[in-house]
Amino acid sequence: MISTFMPQDDTGLQYHGWVSSSKVGVLAIQGDFAKHLSSLGALGVAAQEVRTETELAECSHLIIPGGESTTVGLLLRRFGLGEAIQARARQGMPIWGTCMGMIMMARDVEGSSQYSLGILDVTVRRNAFGAQVHSFEAPVEVAGLAEPVMGVFIRAPIVTRVGNSVEVLSQIDGQIVAVREGNLLGTSFHPELTDDTRLHAWFLETF
Ligand code: GLN
Repeated sequence: MISTFMPQDDTGLQYHGWVSSSKVGVLAIQGDFAKHLSSLGALGVAAQEVRTETELAECSHLIIPGGESTTVGLLLRRFGLGEAIQARARQGMPIWGTCMGMIMMARDVEGSSQYSLGILDVTVRRNAFGAQVHSFEAPVEVAGLAEPVMGVFIRAPIVTRVGNSVEVLSQIDGQIVAVREGNLLGTSFHPELTDDTRLHAWFLETF
């Protein structure tokens, strides 16, 4: 299989099977999407902000960043973009949600009827580690990566139920903080807020 994750050469052209119309999309409705674009830029990957169905259609992968899930849910519904993302998820598009992004992907949000895409068969608990003042950093081992990453947890969710086809990738203090279900990845923490691009590279290479 041809890898879609290939760096640009110094003329800015893509090579080795990267289709120029295939970019990594970052949902840019609200939240820290610019940080993901910086991480992707550091890897030399073609990436773009996604706010419309047309922009989504130009992308091979999608990252849903951290932010505020109630706000993004409302706007996804208003713009009709939620259905387009659900359709791409069913077709196998690799989609990664960090923090709010994982909440947005989840089938169920504990104690809430807020909108979510429902594409990832998990239940999440929002703000599971407490309020903003209880944000923290901790090394996290991720199944598939040789060395731990530094996890930045900001009003982070945990996963409290996983479906049969969901693989647990990371736990911290016995709480699930990273999961994979086929083409879908969810992490409670924010690799885009560090200089470490290994998780971005791993997602692009293996999903
Ligand atoms: N607490 C936020 C929410 O529930 C998520 C926080 C984040 O993405 N850093 O939407």
